[in-house]
Amino acid sequence: MSLYQLTAHELHDKLKAREITAVELTESIYERIEEVETQVKGYLTLTKEIALEQANAADIGFQNGDEIPPLAGIPIAIKDVICTKGVRTTCASKILSNFVPPYDATVMTKLHQQGAVMVGKTNMDEFAMGSSTENSAYQITHNPWDLDTIPGGSSGGSAAVVAADTAICSLGSDTGGSIRQPAALCGVVGMKPTYGRISRYGLIAFASSLDQIGPFTKDVTDCALVLNALCGKDEMDSTSVDMPIPNFTQSLINDIQGLKIGVPKEYFTEGLDTEVADKIQDAIAKLESLGASVIDISLPHTEYAIATYYIIAPAEASANLARYDGVRYGYRTEESEDLINMYKKTRSEGFGEEVKRRIMLGTFALSAGYQDAYYKKAQKARTLIKSDFDAAFEKVDVIATPTSPTPAFKIGERTADPLQMYLCDVMTTPASHAGLPGISVPCGLVNSGLPVGLQLLAAPFNEEALFRVAYTYEQNTEHHLLKPNISNVNDK
Ligand code: GLN
Repeated sequence: MSLYQLTAHELHDKLKAREITAVELTESIYERIEEVETQVKGYLTLTKEIALEQANAADIGFQNGDEIPPLAGIPIAIKDVICTKGVRTTCASKILSNFVPPYDATVMTKLHQQGAVMVGKTNMDEFAMGSSTENSAYQITHNPWDLDTIPGGSSGGSAAVVAADTAICSLGSDTGGSIRQPAALCGVVGMKPTYGRISRYGLIAFASSLDQIGPFTKDVTDCALVLNALCGKDEMDSTSVDMPIPNFTQSLINDIQGLKIGVPKEYFTEGLDTEVADKIQDAIAKLESLGASVIDISLPHTEYAIATYYIIAPAEASANLARYDGVRYGYRTEESEDLINMYKKTRSEGFGEEVKRRIMLGTFALSAGYQDAYYKKAQKARTLIKSDFDAAFEKVDVIATPTSPTPAFKIGERTADPLQMYLCDVMTTPASHAGLPGISVPCGLVNSGLPVGLQLLAAPFNEEALFRVAYTYEQNTEHHLLKPNISNVNDK
């Protein structure tokens, strides 16, 4: 096995035992990048020089016998929506094509404290708006399992690089599903923590009441290690919550005897691919055979989640994106007649189609005559969706559903139809409205060889229950060990 194929916890053991160095590991990652990145196109920026410096610093720590944090020397990729000091951060938008943040996001500071190694910045849908990574202003990322298909989105780059072994793990952001859905489509583990668990300082805002940062990893153990490193109250983000932070590795317990798992009937309806449904039913049966009790539940307002999301998220986005005006930073049009014309041209040229669509939708939903009919109504629906979950978690510990209604689809298949694209989020947006933690774990392949993800949801701040169920499932199945066969993509 090559080093790039291993998990962070396996590599940590080798680094600690001084069997390998962090520099060797980093070099192995860049060799893998040389081999497959021209096909996968997961990265917008590679930061090899910085990575080697960080790896070297980690090695010095290992040699000195310093206490070694779990992510020391581990190569991690960062979604290009997270500010990295001195490293271009574009949000996959032309409007931020020349933006080099003068500061680090809090998650980056935390990774640096661990001694982690930054491999590069990953591709995404522009401003995290999309479900396929096709809305990037720069390139299309290909799903390592089938290069003709999308990797999911909006964190498609972060999911694809972990699946392709061009990073050991990565960070993404999830507003309505952008970690969980690409994790499912790329056959890796992806977690959206509870809203408020992780500081959003330095995460470029899309919809501030929904956005959360979270990890993509090759297994559940690594997911717990990355989450341990990122959590906590931050003075720089008033929505981060001051709660005791559990050591999530202690929740990696291979036992779900007596846990109650709810299966909501609203997630198994029309539009769910039959092969995906079968895989999810198999996974639920497996959980039952491992000792959990499976309980049918109902989340009656689920059907309003998408409509509600596509009012609230664009409304918040339309306000957040007002700052890109060509004055303070970012792209500015070359020629303009006056200030207003400069604003208009900068924004027309700098934003892509989908971003403009969201700004228009959001501005409309917030406009004087329509606010009650759209925005306020959506807020009421959001409360109902949250109440459904509150009631369900009185009865069950964890809820199990599909992550995505279909496996990865072909590149270009849905670009002409925004509504079809929005339906990708039907299984993930409800939990986003309620701020719940969710994890997607691989649960097998459909006949065409594409991965399926099982979504597990828990009550706010109960990530521990997710880890316990996900870990038990993983320990008793082999789906997470399957790898896409892209070593020979150069011959394709
Ligand atoms: N696909 C959803 C959207 O387009 C979710 C995106 C996200 O979670 N950032 O808004």
